[in-house]
Amino acid sequence: MNFKKWMLLLFLVAVCGWGHALPAKNVIWVIGDGMGPEILGFWAQGVRYTNSTNDSPHISHTENLMNQAVWGLYFNNTYDTVVTDSAASATQMATGRFSRPLFVGLDYEKRPVDTLLERALQHGKAIGVVTDTYVTDATPAAFTAHVESRRQREEIARQQLALGPQVILGGGLKYFNKGENKELLRQAQAQGYQVVQNKKQLAKITSGKVLGLFADEALPMAVELHQYPKVPSLITMAQKAISLLEPAENGFIVMIEAGKIDWAAHGNDPGATWAEMKQFDQLIAYLTQYVQAHPDTLLYINADHDTGLGGFAYRHVGKENAAKRTAQGEVLYGKDTDYGSFRTYELFDKQTRSLYLLEEELKNLPVEKRTPALIQKKLSQALGYDIDITQFENLEDVPGIFRQLNDLRAISYATKNHSAAPLLSLAYGADAEQFGGVYHNTDILPRLMRVLGWEGK
Ligand SMILES: [Zn+2]
Repeated sequence: MNFKKWMLLLFLVAVCGWGHALPAKNVIWVIGDGMGPEILGFWAQGVRYTNSTNDSPHISHTENLMNQAVWGLYFNNTYDTVVTDSAASATQMATGRFSRPLFVGLDYEKRPVDTLLERALQHGKAIGVVTDTYVTDATPAAFTAHVESRRQREEIARQQLALGPQVILGGGLKYFNKGENKELLRQAQAQGYQVVQNKKQLAKITSGKVLGLFADEALPMAVELHQYPKVPSLITMAQKAISLLEPAENGFIVMIEAGKIDWAAHGNDPGATWAEMKQFDQLIAYLTQYVQAHPDTLLYINADHDTGLGGFAYRHVGKENAAKRTAQGEVLYGKDTDYGSFRTYELFDKQTRSLYLLEEELKNLPVEKRTPALIQKKLSQALGYDIDITQFENLEDVPGIFRQLNDLRAISYATKNHSAAPLLSLAYGADAEQFGGVYHNTDILPRLMRVLGWEGK
């Protein structure tokens, strides 16, 4: 090495510091709405031991990433409540300040605070939001708007466009083309947005700004997506978003919400949760590879809160049932205890409908039409296999049927709402070490700012 090269090296060391990496250029933030740790475990365990053996388990892409990522455990309480909603949680994550339920982009004293994406624009980065719910829903809203209630969806839509992210993809068309927002799509076009409403149109976009709204409200649940061939999947939207954002010279920040994990868990529907996680897993496979090829990118994966606190739990079935089920070849221990069967995981793969939506459909039918034969048929279709409904008590109690179905499969939920369970975060790629340890979701933004080299700016 000659003198000039030595001086150059010394200069670089002085500027960057030994061992201190250059700031990350891009951040991809994936929020699994409602994805408590038990849901991650439910998915990873199901993949490991379904259609495989204990000796050579399959490994999900999520588990594979977990083996390489930096783990954190964090809390999400709001300013004065133990449990949060999606609005307060996303606000706290996007702004780094404590907030209150329903607030969007406001701290607990109702002051608007710059969000991660607004700060990114100030630093010359391209930004995007992607969701499989509606783009004005609490999580994307908290990164792009400031309102007192998450229900002000028209106002959120207007503020989103005023902010002008290069990419906005999800559902929520009706908040952009009706009522007081009747002219909003036209306004978006005047602002330079290419407005698209189906998968084909999205595929044709190769550069520039895009506003993709693929349903009036939320996009379909993953378990029902097969019925909607024109609606892009979460991974299709994420790939498009990143391909549009990555040419940005100063890098990009994108928030991708897997929003339906929450909806499936609110419905206490493990099969629908399974389908959401399957989609999530494909997204993780793509993003893991992306970050391996782009080491200047940080992939941060977390949840806004847990929903449902559900999963397998053993239960006593009674001697009579135990005898019946043992005769059918099921494995029970301790005379009458059902510890859960791996076959249940396999059955989730067959499900074709959201059980929550089926429950609503059945509840809305006039009682005389809700015959045992119809319930038998609808439930079997939804589950993807024949179920014998004579094993259920009181078919007039529709929610009871679904509770008994979970019971039969040794699945329990603590609630249909959010819980305060602490959450897991996974960080991978540029400066991922910042996200180890135990923290609070208001600590995420300051850590991201360090990763991006924004401190003191
Ligand atoms: Zn929720």
